[in-house]
Amino acid sequence: MSSCTRLLYFVKHRSLWAHVRRNVTTWSPVGAAFNAKPQRRQNLLEKNVGLFGVSELSCPAGFQAATETALRNTRRLVDKVISGPSGVETVESFDQLSDELCKVADLADFVKVAHPDPAFREAAEKSCIEIGTVVEKLNTNVELCNSLKKLLDNPDTVSQLDPDSRRVAELFMFDFEISGIHLDEKLRKEAVALHVKLLDLNNEFLVNSHQPNRIARSAIPEHLHLHFASEGSFIQVGGLHADSPDDLVREIAYRIYLYPNADLMKCLEELLKCRYKMAKLVGYESYAHRALKGTMAKTPETVMSFLQLLTDKLSDKTAKDFTMMSNMKKKLNPLNAELMPWDHPYLSGVLRAERFNIEPSLYSPYFSLGACMEGLNHLFSQLYGVSLMSEQPSAGEVWNEDVRKLAVVHETEGLFGYIYCDFFQRQNKPHQDCHFTIRGGRWLQEMGKYQLPVVVLMLSLPHPTQRAPTLLTPGMMENLFHEMGHAMHSMLGRTRYQHVTGTRCATDFAEVPSILMEYFASDYRVVSQFARHYETGQPLPKSMVARLCESKKVCGAADTQLQIFYAVLDQIYHSQPQNRSTTEILQEMQNKFYGLPYTPNTAWQQRFSHLIGYGAKYYSYLMSRAVASMVWKQCFVQDPLNREMGERYRREMLAHGGAKEPMQMVEGMLQRQPTMEEFVDALDSELNPNFETFLMDSES
Ligand SMILES: [Zn+2]
Repeated sequence: MSSCTRLLYFVKHRSLWAHVRRNVTTWSPVGAAFNAKPQRRQNLLEKNVGLFGVSELSCPAGFQAATETALRNTRRLVDKVISGPSGVETVESFDQLSDELCKVADLADFVKVAHPDPAFREAAEKSCIEIGTVVEKLNTNVELCNSLKKLLDNPDTVSQLDPDSRRVAELFMFDFEISGIHLDEKLRKEAVALHVKLLDLNNEFLVNSHQPNRIARSAIPEHLHLHFASEGSFIQVGGLHADSPDDLVREIAYRIYLYPNADLMKCLEELLKCRYKMAKLVGYESYAHRALKGTMAKTPETVMSFLQLLTDKLSDKTAKDFTMMSNMKKKLNPLNAELMPWDHPYLSGVLRAERFNIEPSLYSPYFSLGACMEGLNHLFSQLYGVSLMSEQPSAGEVWNEDVRKLAVVHETEGLFGYIYCDFFQRQNKPHQDCHFTIRGGRWLQEMGKYQLPVVVLMLSLPHPTQRAPTLLTPGMMENLFHEMGHAMHSMLGRTRYQHVTGTRCATDFAEVPSILMEYFASDYRVVSQFARHYETGQPLPKSMVARLCESKKVCGAADTQLQIFYAVLDQIYHSQPQNRSTTEILQEMQNKFYGLPYTPNTAWQQRFSHLIGYGAKYYSYLMSRAVASMVWKQCFVQDPLNREMGERYRREMLAHGGAKEPMQMVEGMLQRQPTMEEFVDALDSELNPNFETFLMDSES
């Protein structure tokens, strides 16, 4: 409680800070916290409060204790659900049960990948496995399922549920369904067997899709050996080397890395077959039909029509992009001029650099981490009236000294939640920008208050040096804004149930809040509020921001078309079984939806590891982007700092997490029903050049 009042005190006196800020080296609290080195903790006698303030987690062995407590509470709640009356209490108990398990499992999921101490990582991994096993058992607990079924099958009890409780009850039921629990004994056994088999196949595909391929050293020209790893008399190719300026290196990498691996292909074919069988068994037309239930798109037909419309709309722009790449290839290599799939990423980079001078080191002095954090703080206070307040973590609360803790505080409503910022590179830390939910928000009926959400944002930024704070490239700055979009979705969500907290929403909606932040990050009115040279205090020139925005449009249609091709492939693989191999399907879809020719004896799909986690939902990013683009253009482009729009956005979209139909949230925000054509137009129109930029450049 005391920390909360202290934070409110800070909020009330924030305006004072603005007045005393005379030069760039004085930041208000959040900026200062990120531009300074962390203070070394002196007091060794201070009590260890445990990771994230969970008292058991002051040592690795604490994971066992926390897991046991969670499992004990789970058993109690299972009994309560089974023996209790049918009604809203059933949904509440289910959510509480899920909260008990998630509280430990989500935290452990993070710790097992991010903690620098292997003992903590191992203990967390054990907890994950233990809880995973219990969840598997609960998913096949007939009595538990029946209590939910009883509730949902009775029109009287259903009619008494509020919309949120009903949706959450249906979501829990959806999880049960996949284990075939509602089927008769024989079919249920079949479903369980399929489920087990699928877990193995998923794992096998995930692991092997990242394995390098190898080839005899003698098979490739000697002067190229240095580009690849060696293994005795073999050369190992572990990736596409897509950015290599050497045509031949890219071609060799493409042909070898994607050379078909018979076992992997068999694994994929088997996996898709099992997914289809499973979906049919539990009552769906195809795996895609099941996966898309509850999403914004709702059906595979809608997804395919979106992808087809987008392809048609972009076709002229895509053709122009490929012509540009072809011409560039002719210029660079007149002898070997045909444009091939391995040229696309490299040549689009060359074209971008040639057209616009966007060398990252020109920008980064203006984007010190502290300045960017201050910019986010300022933006959020303008849009939602919330501030990011830097708070000193207690002893043992964080896993590494450089982790910062932010309290998210509303000007009148008080503390909203906590964001732990694990921003800096370190050994053994995954090199991945990521948002983790550590604790979901939910209404605590018994205590009459809200369980505050807790999240971690993980980035891999360079450390500050003696001479300079951490400086971000434009790409890093955009990623920071993107991840903060996820974090604010978690913080501003106020769902009654944690099962649908913040980012726990439909996959094709989940990226809307984060992509929307990318639009803010490229708008000069937002950027000019914080981008100052860390040494001179000079503001970032407007023409430089404009150039950055224009550069993203170079080859943008071709890049989008490549994503469409992948999304289509994912849809077809998860539709009804096709009487042809995954490679034959790939070849046809590549011709129809991409434009660059298929290369014989390659099988790109065996590297498509997103098929596991995103099965039938790879289109999600494109659709989220379309919605974010519409929201930006309709609601924020006029005035990106408009409080009224910020409030509407919070109320209509962010507050609901996954508790509301995603399309209803979009309609609430846009105040009308958008059409698929409008989605497509939004993505198309953002590729149109802005002629003002060229004028600005010719003036400067
Ligand atoms: Zn994201």
